[in-house]
Amino acid sequence: MRKFQHWLEPKTPAELEQMAQEARRLTQAHFGKTVRLYAPLYLSNECVNVCQYCGFSREHTIRRLTLTSEQVETEARHLVKEGFRSILLVAGEHPKWISENYLAECLARIRPLAPSLALEVGPMDTDGYRMMVKAGAEALTIYQETYNTKRYAELHPAGPKKDFDWRLECPERAAEAGMRRIGVGALFGLSDWREEALALAAHTEYLLKTCWRTFLTVSLPRIRPAAGDFTPPHPISNREMVHLICALRLAFPQIGIVLSTRESAQFRDALLPLGITHMSAGSNTEPGGYTGINSGEQTTGGAPEKNQPETGEQFHIADERPAAAFAEQLKKLGYDPVWKDWDQGLNAMP
Ligand code: SF4
Repeated sequence: MRKFQHWLEPKTPAELEQMAQEARRLTQAHFGKTVRLYAPLYLSNECVNVCQYCGFSREHTIRRLTLTSEQVETEARHLVKEGFRSILLVAGEHPKWISENYLAECLARIRPLAPSLALEVGPMDTDGYRMMVKAGAEALTIYQETYNTKRYAELHPAGPKKDFDWRLECPERAAEAGMRRIGVGALFGLSDWREEALALAAHTEYLLKTCWRTFLTVSLPRIRPAAGDFTPPHPISNREMVHLICALRLAFPQIGIVLSTRESAQFRDALLPLGITHMSAGSNTEPGGYTGINSGEQTTGGAPEKNQPETGEQFHIADERPAAAFAEQLKKLGYDPVWKDWDQGLNAMP
């Protein structure tokens, strides 16, 4: 950790360039010139939490809906047609609409279509995660949002997400339940980026030791505009993002680093060689948004208020390139887009 702290300290342009070159070398040595592609599939925008930065907060009057498992299959078929074999199922936290049984039903339904299914949903206990693995989940993504406990309490004033420790311990429970891949991360912009990075790195180091059978990925999302017009109190600049990614790669050559479509096309292309291994593409953050099946059963919410979005998206994406165009761009940059790097059949191998 002391080395990571040293790499995080302010650097001259020449020092940062040196870090970038080493980060590039380490990434290619461990992962080659490849990028694993995935797509998020939003199941529901129902949520009982009130995260101050999120468009799905229960305080916002947006159009609320939860897809049926048939509609989830339609969305998944659309993504498979586009080439995706790795799908991240995303939902808010709502015990009634997004129950463990509902999630298991969705997983089982699309398991034959895509070999790599991940979940980004509310925390569960170990038995809940076991149920998800059994139904076909290969991976779990769970961001702590901020590791600053005071900021965390301010930003999550109500709902089950108030419980910082229960969330923090999710990766270990998921690993115990048999998840093959676990993604952690922080939402940059909520508190000082260096302090956040240090805490995220300490968590990563701890998980590498305690969950050594699990492949670990780290995400560094920055806050994007969403319903509620939250203004990030500690915005992180592009240069600081570059610095952060290089420092992470130098400290943890073996982990995956994920970059979503929250970042612009130009910036994503520029960050790619510094250590990125997993990228989403052609994303839509609204339930049913890929195929337009978003007239599913409306549950609560009603008509959007003035200045609220008509749609029920979580946040606005920045890189709007379709998946195929993004894959072509990767090739132009000398990288192999990897659509499939896991098959459930591998679980059965001795
Ligand atoms: S960040 Fe997640 S838990 Fe919080 S309001 Fe949004 S969907 Fe709900």
